[in-house]
Amino acid sequence: MNRLRYILVIALIALSTILHAKDGVTRILAIGNSFSEDAVEQYLHELAAADNKQAIVANMYIGGCPLERHLNNAKGNRPDYRYRKVGVDGVRKQTDRMTLERAIKDEHWDYISLQQASGLSGRYETYTPYLSKLLAYVKKLAPKGCKIIWHQTWAYSQDSPHGSFKDYGRDQMKMYQSIMDCSQRAVKDNRLTMVVPSGTAVQNARTTFIGDNMNRDGYHLNMQYGRYTAACTWYEAIFHRNVVGNRYAPKGLHHDIVNACQQAAHAAVAKPYEVTDLSNIKATEILYTNPSVPREIRITDLLSRMTLKEKILQINQYTLGTNNIENNKGVEVKNIPAEIGSLIYFPTAPELRNRMQRHAMEDSRLGIPILFGYDCIHGFRTIFPIPLAQACSWNTALVEQGCRVAAQECRTSGVDWTFSPMVDVSRDPRWGRVAESYGEDPFANSIFGQAAIRGYQGKKLTDSLSIAACLKHYVGYGASEAGRDYVYTEISRQSLWDTYLQPFEKGVQAGAATIMSSFNNISGIPASANHYTLTDVLRNKWGFRGLMVSDWNAVGQLVSQNMAKDLKDAGQLALNAGVDMDMMAHSYDKYLQELVDEGKVSMAVLDEAVRRTLRVKFQLGLFENPYTPISQPEERFLLPKSVETAKKMAAESMVLLKNSNNTLPLTSSARNSKGSKLKILVTGPVADATHDLLGCWWGHGVDCDVEKLNESIMKEFGENAEVRYVKGCDFEGTDESQFKEVEKLSLWADVVVMCMGEKGSWSGENNSHAFIGLPQVQRQLIEHVKAKAKKLVLVLSSGRPMIISDEAAMADAVLEMWHPGLYGGSAVAGILSGRINPSGRLAMTFPYSQGQIPIYYGRRNSARRHQGFYKDQTSDALYNFGHGLSYTTFAYGEPVVTRTDVKAGDTFTITIPVTNTGSCDGQETVFWYVSDPYGTITRPDKELRHFEKKLIRSGETVEYTFKVNVNRDLSFVDSEGRRFTEAGEMYVLVGDKKIAINVK
Ligand code: BGC
Repeated sequence: MNRLRYILVIALIALSTILHAKDGVTRILAIGNSFSEDAVEQYLHELAAADNKQAIVANMYIGGCPLERHLNNAKGNRPDYRYRKVGVDGVRKQTDRMTLERAIKDEHWDYISLQQASGLSGRYETYTPYLSKLLAYVKKLAPKGCKIIWHQTWAYSQDSPHGSFKDYGRDQMKMYQSIMDCSQRAVKDNRLTMVVPSGTAVQNARTTFIGDNMNRDGYHLNMQYGRYTAACTWYEAIFHRNVVGNRYAPKGLHHDIVNACQQAAHAAVAKPYEVTDLSNIKATEILYTNPSVPREIRITDLLSRMTLKEKILQINQYTLGTNNIENNKGVEVKNIPAEIGSLIYFPTAPELRNRMQRHAMEDSRLGIPILFGYDCIHGFRTIFPIPLAQACSWNTALVEQGCRVAAQECRTSGVDWTFSPMVDVSRDPRWGRVAESYGEDPFANSIFGQAAIRGYQGKKLTDSLSIAACLKHYVGYGASEAGRDYVYTEISRQSLWDTYLQPFEKGVQAGAATIMSSFNNISGIPASANHYTLTDVLRNKWGFRGLMVSDWNAVGQLVSQNMAKDLKDAGQLALNAGVDMDMMAHSYDKYLQELVDEGKVSMAVLDEAVRRTLRVKFQLGLFENPYTPISQPEERFLLPKSVETAKKMAAESMVLLKNSNNTLPLTSSARNSKGSKLKILVTGPVADATHDLLGCWWGHGVDCDVEKLNESIMKEFGENAEVRYVKGCDFEGTDESQFKEVEKLSLWADVVVMCMGEKGSWSGENNSHAFIGLPQVQRQLIEHVKAKAKKLVLVLSSGRPMIISDEAAMADAVLEMWHPGLYGGSAVAGILSGRINPSGRLAMTFPYSQGQIPIYYGRRNSARRHQGFYKDQTSDALYNFGHGLSYTTFAYGEPVVTRTDVKAGDTFTITIPVTNTGSCDGQETVFWYVSDPYGTITRPDKELRHFEKKLIRSGETVEYTFKVNVNRDLSFVDSEGRRFTEAGEMYVLVGDKKIAINVK
């Protein structure tokens, strides 16, 4: 009986083999990684079907899997694979947790392919001894007659950020050659039946008009024509049919590209280990004007048509319209050439743009649209609070919405590109540009920078209401020595990575289309000539493919910084370091021709800069839509939704710094004891200010749109109070003539609201101040009022944290309103009356005195924590980072953590309940810090890693959660930007709670 069963089984196997051999279906299994996924999963089946061939195509995938791991998986029979199979019917099926054994036994395979992981594919020492052993394993399980073949992988694109690319000196041909050597050896040493030369096919395609655009991220293949080229190679290699002319092509792929891919594959199968020059394959049509052609190919096509002169003009930026940039006046360029790459556009309406654009489109040979940029820093016409204030809202969604409003106003007015957000970590309030930043913390700058990018760029840059963002200023500008603008910055590599680069890296990850190189000198190498930051880090490590524009005349200033001999030398240094576009230095337009002729700048470098410039234009859809539709100002400016967003931001960004005895809100605490109407005196230079509330970079804000504080307060209190206003004094000067009257009314009032601070023009660019207290006249007015007033509320409007220790001590309450844009008046009034419960928290420390600067929360600890303090005054800040009061109170409950023993790669969560224990609703921002008590590189005392703001109704409890990712949140970088997770103790700090985490 047993014998009979045995014979039957054998007969069945024999029969099925014969049947398989005859059923006309070719069965292919690839054992690989994402490169085999690229090659076989998408188009191979279709190419076969188009030629009436039936195929089953399957891929065993583990991301980046090398031969060594495949072998270990085989030995351990590990189910680590994702298995995808396309059946004869074309239906795709996926099985997770697959083992090699099951996959090999799943079908009667005709071909099984192996390959090495891309980064190792040119290093033969990573093949042996794994390949031979793996082969033995596969052969043992594979059906009889199955051919084991080698899948040749491809070299990276020349701008690839892949970490292994440096092993080949970042040289594509060198990598290609190494891969060829290895695949030849692999085939020979193991007597494999054949090679599928995908790598050579990709290289062949690169010699056609497609150029070096075969990859989607520098190493994986472009989803459409890249994958198609590899699939064509498989098709021809396996089916022995000439793929040229195969009727199947990915949907929408231009026929010229289809032909180039097929030719590249065909040539590779003929000569698997050597590049065939296919540069004679030209497109039959103009591709760059055709929107259906993939973007990178359009760019290559356009580049190939440009003359040297056209290329040079493309990477220059001039100005158009009446220049309103205060620090860069008097340099408007006349007679702008039609071939210019970009213009800074000053008008508020699109007509001039359209005229100029028509000139570019119609009077130039190639009709390349101009990119119009502008400094829309905190609003275009609907002006929002300055960025530093916005950060104090800790409301990322609101920051995003604000930038969305700005984008809409820009794009409909003719601006495609804003020079924002500024993500310079800023720790010295003497530096005027702190106003433009998101404060002192790298994480906060990262998160708000990302929110701003999302807001400006929207879901797609091609959207009619999106604009390109520009991260600036790259990099370390915030470290300006002694708070002076444009000066030297002393930044160690460690600080560069810990502090200054982080927000840019996060911005690149968020898809920022452009970046601006900064004015500062980074420890000897100016930022705009710094190859390390501009190319090694940004391009090669992070893979940034966008445009790098210099700051205004930053290229020319390399001469002042003693880096360049002259303007020509400056251009050479900047472009070679990685500055693609010259903003207003006129170095590239004047000298690039000579520099190229003399071989000091290579054509490859120039082409890359032009390519990046063109890329932004294509991304924005400017080739298809070069003109801005004409609309009326009221159709695009101050729309109800925009105003609402700006008002919300003004309210949420103000920070209540002090509130003794619940002085505020005025309704509850300051009511006249006899029950009569509350008497309020409003005084100070900010009280009737308009322009000064807009702050630096007020865009196209209009003074008469600004809500005045005195009027807003009167309106807010209406019948409930008697409000009087006396200006009292100017922002500065010596005029004390109104002091007497203020004193008299101070006696009359129940409360004096003193609206003091800085003019809008005292912060921002080129506005360093050595003294950042209130001017003398304002301080004196405060002293006079203090002597008479029952209650003194100080409302401070400024573009930086000021030194207000004395004044704050005199005041019963202090409200920092910043430079709030258009709608600060109603926000302040609402906070005074209690209609708005303040929820802002400081994004930058308020020093107690100037001698403390720089002072910020994220410092490394001292050798003697109990000593070393100032002998003559406190060493503590006046108000710390994160400080901010509310009209209600919050109690933090016990945090719950899902696990405390963790290792690299783990994730876990910590949740904390927060209860509103007061009598009014309020928003609470919970800050999550990590602290690393010891390690190979010491860390700041604590580092912000997460924050969240939520509304909690009076009496309610709300949970806040921090999803901790060990690799991301409990790690640190070294001075080369390598990230480490180290074993040891770590702490997560939230409120007054400290949670110990043990990292294994
Ligand atoms: C500033 C930049 C600004 C540029 C263009 C420069 O002076 O530093 O922040 O984007 O001018 O206006």
